[in-house]
Amino acid sequence: MRALLLFLTTAALLHANPVELFDGKSLAGWKASENTGSWSVKHGAIVANGKRSHLFYNGPVAHADFTNFILEIEACAAARSNSGVFIHTAWQKTGWPDHGYEIQINNSYNGHGQHRELKRTGSIYAVRNLTKSPIADDQWFTLRIQVAGKRVIVHVDDKLAVDYIEPDGPLHPAFPPTRRLSSGTIALQAHDPGSTVRFRRITLTQLPANHDPAIPLRPSADGCGATRDRIDSLAARNIPFIDYHVHLRGGMTADKALARQATTGINLGILKNLGQGWPIETDAQLAAFLDETESYPLFRGIQVNDRDWHTTHDKTLLDRLDYILADTMIMPMPDDNGPMTKLFEPATYTIDDPEAWMKRYLKHNLRVLAEPCNILANPTYLPPSVEPLYDTLWTDERMKLVIQAAIDNHVALEINARSGFPRDRFIRHARNMGAKFTTGSNNSDDQPVDMSRCFKAYQSHRITKAQTWVP
Ligand SMILES: [Zn+2]
Repeated sequence: MRALLLFLTTAALLHANPVELFDGKSLAGWKASENTGSWSVKHGAIVANGKRSHLFYNGPVAHADFTNFILEIEACAAARSNSGVFIHTAWQKTGWPDHGYEIQINNSYNGHGQHRELKRTGSIYAVRNLTKSPIADDQWFTLRIQVAGKRVIVHVDDKLAVDYIEPDGPLHPAFPPTRRLSSGTIALQAHDPGSTVRFRRITLTQLPANHDPAIPLRPSADGCGATRDRIDSLAARNIPFIDYHVHLRGGMTADKALARQATTGINLGILKNLGQGWPIETDAQLAAFLDETESYPLFRGIQVNDRDWHTTHDKTLLDRLDYILADTMIMPMPDDNGPMTKLFEPATYTIDDPEAWMKRYLKHNLRVLAEPCNILANPTYLPPSVEPLYDTLWTDERMKLVIQAAIDNHVALEINARSGFPRDRFIRHARNMGAKFTTGSNNSDDQPVDMSRCFKAYQSHRITKAQTWVP
């Protein structure tokens, strides 16, 4: 028994030795494709700068053929730089490598010409896209890539970026058939002359061939409606699918949001309500929320509940937010001089004349849309007592007034996963008029929210990348 244990321990240790793949002074053990001049070594770092080239490891470690491993690379990208690290890839004389996957490095590169690049550092390129970069430019960070079996886990510094399981069947038709996990070498990318990225301390730890892919434990991705087909299709077409309406309440935390984002492929924006009687009332509370969530690759916003929010809070704090989400669900009742009333608490008011109320409600909508907010949550919301009158109260004309105000003020329209607002007719008008969309779960706790309604709306209305809103 003891001998067996000793043997197992030794075997594990043999595999667990991190090996340096870069000697810190030369490109020995590496081979560059096409534009070889794009690579140099300066101050102990490999520098990628120049026309497209890929630097493949072809040194002695494991004959440059890695299956299960942990790869750690320290990298630093200058502003507007694009680069990446390929895994399970193979030498290729020219072009973007067809074999394996690319783990993207891109903190702020926005693309060239018409192409707006949204795949940020830590993404598995075009397969699992992160829309918010976890890293600032000109800052050293560690990219940690663990591959075991069909599972790839990417960390950027200590934050989980992607936890991906490759499906058995073929991937999206947009990909070459070699976009698969198998085994192979690694390669660094020089993307274009405008990009400068440095790499240092490139260590690889081989994991045993029988390493259990289920270790470490993977949080469940179930319940969000993020089926493989839905996510793959959007990711391959570079269409962001972002749930900006994830409240940190009822046990929901930034870490749980991060795990959900990494396993489902749905990007998330976390937020808290701001206003009198809401979780954030003061600037000190707003600053605390921003500081606590600063290092997370999640968008961060607030949902504003008072109509004077933009004049009563420190602008430098508001500017640190990625977005402001507003809604129309609190308005003066029973008339414009009445107290602000929560329409979602129907016991506190009555609507005696729906048509007269609707005229006031439409004005209230336009007032909210004139605020410097970014997203209108639950557009065309109606309180329960008048919801059966939706098609009567929300005439096409009224819908178009709201949509035009949103377009004029650069406010995106949320498709809410749970409430059923806005309804299909509104989405169709908004799409045809050129509005932008987001999705929102409006969770009450840390349980998954089924986003199927939003996926279906994006699909049936053929929402394009240009019609989605990104900060
Ligand atoms: Zn909300």
